[in-house]
Amino acid sequence: MANMELNAVVTRKLVLSPELFVIRVAPKGWELPDFVPGQFAVIGLPDTSPRVEISDPEVGEPSGKMIRRAYSIASSPLVRDHLEFYVSMVAEGVLTPRLFALDIGDSLWLGPKITGHFTLESVPEDQNVILVGTGTGVAPYISMVRTHLPWKKGRKMAILHGARQSWDLAYLEEMTSMQRVYDDLIYLPQISRHQNEHVPWPGLTGHVQNLWTNGALKAAWGEQPSPNNTHVFLCGNPAMCNDMKTLLEADGFVEHSRKSPGQIHVELYW
Ligand SMILES: Cc1cc2nc3c(=O)[nH]c(=O)nc-3n(C[C@H](O)[C@H](O)[C@H](O)COP(=O)(O)OP(=O)(O)OC[C@H]3O[C@@H](n4cnc5c(N)ncnc54)[C@H](O)[C@@H]3O)c2cc1C
Repeated sequence: MANMELNAVVTRKLVLSPELFVIRVAPKGWELPDFVPGQFAVIGLPDTSPRVEISDPEVGEPSGKMIRRAYSIASSPLVRDHLEFYVSMVAEGVLTPRLFALDIGDSLWLGPKITGHFTLESVPEDQNVILVGTGTGVAPYISMVRTHLPWKKGRKMAILHGARQSWDLAYLEEMTSMQRVYDDLIYLPQISRHQNEHVPWPGLTGHVQNLWTNGALKAAWGEQPSPNNTHVFLCGNPAMCNDMKTLLEADGFVEHSRKSPGQIHVELYW
């Protein structure tokens, strides 16, 4: 496959706001590789692709080079015909303003390799799992839930999703429904700009880190999570991941690495 070939096509585009969408990308005439929920793919467009109007203008002339960026996969590996991505636009960014200009049927580049260690593979089956994400940082967890539910009986799982507005919560309905069906799953969405909502938001407000300190999770689980029985995943905004890491380390959790196993797993988006 030539490195510059636009080897994939947009098959679905769900616009949540001018700066946030869920997009499905299907390979054109080749098979998707197998992958593990939590991993990421690389997508790309040439710099000659147009930018969406609401983005910042770019300085300099395009040279035809391919721009590539990593995106966590939100779909399950059980789905074989497309990958789903949950993407936010960075107005001054190089790739995302071009991605947002794409429509259904438009072509783009999809890397044929899927990689990453931000998966549940290193978590023993008897451990509970807390999945914390800001904005699009919930994407890898959606793939995990879509693939692994129902869990082994007795394992508790909680998704803590922080977003600015209620309309940014792309998977609110799906996760709320799953929570109703599976007793072991808790979904706690939280918004930080509730004053901008058009109708009052009945749910949790503030930053997602607060869910750790204000007892919301303890109330939902019936016990405070401990490093003896729980692994915590952190994904998205680096400030949130760092704040959460500090809180968790104060409670005895240790960051996981391949050389030194621990209970905190981190995926920074920038
Ligand atoms: C493993 C991995 C998985 C990722 N998964 C996703 C995903 O599922 N969805 C998603 O939207 N992004 C994801 N990202 C981020 C993505 O790769 C790009 O960095 C992002 O889309 C911006 O690309 P850009 O070319 O438009 O901006 P760039 O030109 O690369 O960046 C411009 C500036 O914006 C900052 N920046 C980058 N991303 C953001 C952001 N989201 N919010 C605010 N500032 C930002 C950068 O630090 C830089 O200073 C992931 C990154 C990694 C490393």
